[in-house]
Amino acid sequence: MDDTSKNKRRIIAVLLVIALAAAAGVIMYVNRTRSYATVTFHMDTYVSYDINCPRPERAVRKMEAAVKECEELFDRFDPSSEIAKINRNAGEAVEVSEQTYVLMFNALELAKQTGGSFDPTIGALSDLWGFGDEPRIPDQDDLAECLADVGFHKVTLSRDEKGGYYVCIAKGQKLDLGAIAKGYTLNEVGFAAYKAGCREGIISLGGNVLLLGSGQDGSGYKVGVRCPDENSNSSALVLKLGDTADDTVLSTSGSYERFFWEDGVRYCHIIDPFTGDCAEKDLKSVTVISSDPRRADGLSTAYYVMGIDRTLDALASGEITGVAIDRYGTIYISEDLMDKVVPDSVAEGYELEVVG
Ligand code: ADP
Ligand code: MG
Repeated sequence: MDDTSKNKRRIIAVLLVIALAAAAGVIMYVNRTRSYATVTFHMDTYVSYDINCPRPERAVRKMEAAVKECEELFDRFDPSSEIAKINRNAGEAVEVSEQTYVLMFNALELAKQTGGSFDPTIGALSDLWGFGDEPRIPDQDDLAECLADVGFHKVTLSRDEKGGYYVCIAKGQKLDLGAIAKGYTLNEVGFAAYKAGCREGIISLGGNVLLLGSGQDGSGYKVGVRCPDENSNSSALVLKLGDTADDTVLSTSGSYERFFWEDGVRYCHIIDPFTGDCAEKDLKSVTVISSDPRRADGLSTAYYVMGIDRTLDALASGEITGVAIDRYGTIYISEDLMDKVVPDSVAEGYELEVVG
């Protein structure tokens, strides 16, 4: 080999090393995890992302796309949504997307499981109470009339030979998926996060929190259960969650979210499908901890409706894992959550009582 070809080889080798180093640098840069936090507004509530992953802005864009897609399909006040279309065509089978079909399937399963305390056909009752715009106590005759149409049993889901998805509600019925749509959406957000390579973070959508991974030191995240008082933004107690697969989701339903007062009674946006009433009774909030955001969302609403006795039984038997706060400041907590309570985190004026 002469000198010129030796030199050429040397130059090529050097260039190759430089190119490899540059490529490794780019890969390391792209894969470097970064913390990123942002807040958006969808489904009439705040969506907050606090994540740590490679290319977090891109991951949030993917998660936001999932939220927007669900919002467009499920918002019953948006005439172009699929839920609005089903409501306009009560009595007829309406072709819907797979997402809406699955949401309805999940909602009907939960309705069955909770004996109808969670019922997605309470739409006409919600309208009557006016929680979408101007809340008010409805006329009792109107209430009785609406109540007669409530009933998840009257909803049918079907497929046609081409694989199309159909939902049919009974004449007079109106769907309101407000108690499960956020949970369903959070489930989709979880998938979007995973696909975008995001494995660590806290995402919250209204009263629903999804934990990805188990925090930077692997011991979980501190998540507050909100004080169920008006104008309070603080926590009644703080739990350390996310270090096992069973406690990746927390969902709270309470009378402090949307309500009005009349004659000393607080009326809130959670309606008893059996009586049509939404006056606050013994409970101020119910928090369910689960691995499934749809379940946590639907069950927290259902047990709030069922009331304190049934909820305490469910906490004691392990039917649900969670926390219930009554109007006197007692925080009832599942026995198996006790080792997750952050020491000294119970707020002043509250008292912790273990159920089990
Ligand atoms: P939030 O929307 O504040 O997270 P929930 O998950 O408890 O609270 O959902 C409350 C919403 O669910 C109401 O605004 C209404 O749209 C709907 N809803 C109210 N009562 C019921 C019920 N018994 N079953 C099913 N949906 C309900
Ligand atoms: Mg709910």
